[in-house]
Amino acid sequence: MSALVIAVDGPSGSGKSSVCRKVAARLGLAYLDTGAMYRAATWWCLERGVDLADGPAVTAAVHAMVLELDLNPRLPVFRIGSTDVGTAIRTGEISAAVSAVATNLDVRADLGARQRRVIEVERGPEGFSEGRGVVVEGRDITTVIAPDADVRVLLTASEEARLARRARELHGSDDATSVAATRDQVVRRDEQDSTVVEFRTAADGVVTVDSSDLDLDQTVDAVLAVVAQVSGRSA
Ligand code: C5P
Repeated sequence: MSALVIAVDGPSGSGKSSVCRKVAARLGLAYLDTGAMYRAATWWCLERGVDLADGPAVTAAVHAMVLELDLNPRLPVFRIGSTDVGTAIRTGEISAAVSAVATNLDVRADLGARQRRVIEVERGPEGFSEGRGVVVEGRDITTVIAPDADVRVLLTASEEARLARRARELHGSDDATSVAATRDQVVRRDEQDSTVVEFRTAADGVVTVDSSDLDLDQTVDAVLAVVAQVSGRSA
C-alpha cells in the first residue's frame, strides 16, 4: 500500500488552507498549497516587470522560475532562489493579480507538472509505503492534477460565510464595509478562476464538506471523518 494522497478543492474563503494544514499535521502527512504556487508565479512575474497581459512572456518567466518548497504543514516554506516569498505572496496586490496568471493554460501545464511530481514523490513507489503521503489543496486537484487520489474532497461554504471569513481575516471585522471591501477578492476572483477550472460542484467520487456552519476544528473533524470513511485511515 503506498502512502495516502488527499486532494481538496474549493473556492476562496472556504477555509481550505487552514483546514488542510491541520488535517495534514494530524495525519502526519506533507502539505502542498497549490494556490501558493500560482501566487509565487505571480509575484515572480511582477518582480521581473512582466506584463501579466502578455501570455507568452508570463509563460516564459514561469518556466524560468526556480521554486523550492518545504511541505511541512506546521511551517510551509516557499522559496524562489534564495528569497522566502511566504509573506510577499499574501498581499492584496498578488490576490488581485493571480487569476491573470492562473488562467494562462501554459502556466497551468507547467505548475501542474510540478505538482504531479511532488505528489509522486510523496506517494512513494507503487507497492511500498515509503512516501510521507500528502494533502494537496487547490482548485483542480480532485479533477485534473490528482483524480486518482485516495481521498477527494470539495470544501464549500455559502458565499455569505466565505465573505465574512475573508473580511475577518483581512480587516478584522465582518461588518458591512469590510465585507464590501472583500467582495472583489472572493467573488470576482472565483468567477475569473472558474473560466478555466470547475471547483464549485463536486465531480463523481468527490465528497462535499460544507463548512458554512462549522468552525475550523469542526471542519477539520468533518474532513478527517471523510478520510477515515473513504480510506480507512484515521488520525
Ligand atoms: O487558494 P488561493 O486563494 O491561495 O489561490 C490563489 C489563486 O491561485 C486562485 O485564485 C486561482 O487563481 C489559483 N489557483 C488555481 N488552481 C489551483 C490553485 C490555485 O488556478 N489548483
